[in-house]
Amino acid sequence: MAEWKKYWDEEIETMPRKSLEALQLRLLKDELDFTYQNSLFYQTSFQEAGAMPDSLKTLEDIRKFPYTNKKVERDRQVAVPDLGDMIAVPEEEIVYVSASSGSTGVPTLSPFSAQDFKEFQDAQARLFWAMGMRPCDRYVHALNFTLFVGGPDVIGAQKTGALCIWAGTIPSERLLFIMKEFKPTITWTTPSYAWFLGETAQKEGFDPAKDLSINKIIVAGEPGGSIASTRNAIEKLWDAKVYDFYGLSDIFGANAGVCEEQNGLHLTEDHHLLEVLDPGTLEPVPEGQKGEMVLTTLKKKARPMIRFRTGDIVTATTEPCVCGRTHVRINIHGRIDDMLIITGVNVFPSDIERVVRGMDELTGEYQIVVYREKHLDKFDVEVEKKTETEISDENLSDKLKNNLKSRLGVRPRIKILPDGTLERATHKATRVIDKREKVWAE
Ligand SMILES: [Zn+2]
Repeated sequence: MAEWKKYWDEEIETMPRKSLEALQLRLLKDELDFTYQNSLFYQTSFQEAGAMPDSLKTLEDIRKFPYTNKKVERDRQVAVPDLGDMIAVPEEEIVYVSASSGSTGVPTLSPFSAQDFKEFQDAQARLFWAMGMRPCDRYVHALNFTLFVGGPDVIGAQKTGALCIWAGTIPSERLLFIMKEFKPTITWTTPSYAWFLGETAQKEGFDPAKDLSINKIIVAGEPGGSIASTRNAIEKLWDAKVYDFYGLSDIFGANAGVCEEQNGLHLTEDHHLLEVLDPGTLEPVPEGQKGEMVLTTLKKKARPMIRFRTGDIVTATTEPCVCGRTHVRINIHGRIDDMLIITGVNVFPSDIERVVRGMDELTGEYQIVVYREKHLDKFDVEVEKKTETEISDENLSDKLKNNLKSRLGVRPRIKILPDGTLERATHKATRVIDKREKVWAE
């Protein structure tokens, strides 16, 4: 077998942190200058905040600059059709635009210049290489090609030299047919879909672990890939390793991804400046503690993103990784908007998922139903018992309740359902049903 190089871009990926931070500072200065000079929106918002690009002396000075978020993005797009005034290049220089399906109606557009797109794909190739994709691999790209920023990531995969199959989102029987006929070794889906697809294969009478050649699965779009119990269950089902990627349509298809060590997602730090802030006080949290991820693009020109509040709760570490890469590693814990506050306790559905998927007696499917009873917020956890499980519903329910109590500090009502009752997700799973009446508007 051929000996491949270890890193896609050794100099950048293994740069000592001091040099990396100096590089970030240089890039950040240029990005802020460029943004201020070329984007009407940022010009106004920097002026209003009294933050001028030349006042930036250290990376921490980024904190003088105002935030952006999904709402700002959407509002600017509505105010100045069609691409908004956050863009910093004339439309003639824009060669690609993706759109994220906003549940509120207006899809937010994400424009790229030719240079942005080239850098985007080089960064994707780096992440694919870091998770182990090599020219001898066959990769089936099963992400949506229609407007979705993850679609073009297949170009990044091709840059690694792997044989790429442009499948897109197709019915699962068809995808399984491709997997049988073309024998790909790597694929990319959401964690729930990887689960669903594996179960579908079993229902069709074959074993994804033995009868298919997939040995690596990239997952993104849901926190499952960072949850050990979910990851282990998918790995067992497929006899494959699971690698979590993190994407943000507003910036790149994938901004961070786990390396072969499978221990946290390396953020491409020559493209992004990371801040982890307490979502309440907006002060930085100490390294290793949970906070909201705020990202600033360091190179993007079509639409720079300055201090973009992602709404994702992460922990981050700059501890050296065994792989030799120096870029910060993040772990995703959920979204701020997913966080449920149940009688004063913060509950993340991903924490419940960890408990449910850690129990062998359960299928791993679950649903959380939140309701209000006598002015108190409560929730039910609905789970499925595996058909072959012998334990009684009552004992199983007690066991789950105790596990949840020790993990989350709450004792929800448990509903044990037969295997196959809950709806299987084909894309992003809806795990939380909130039946509480809204007291105030958003
Ligand atoms: Zn690593």
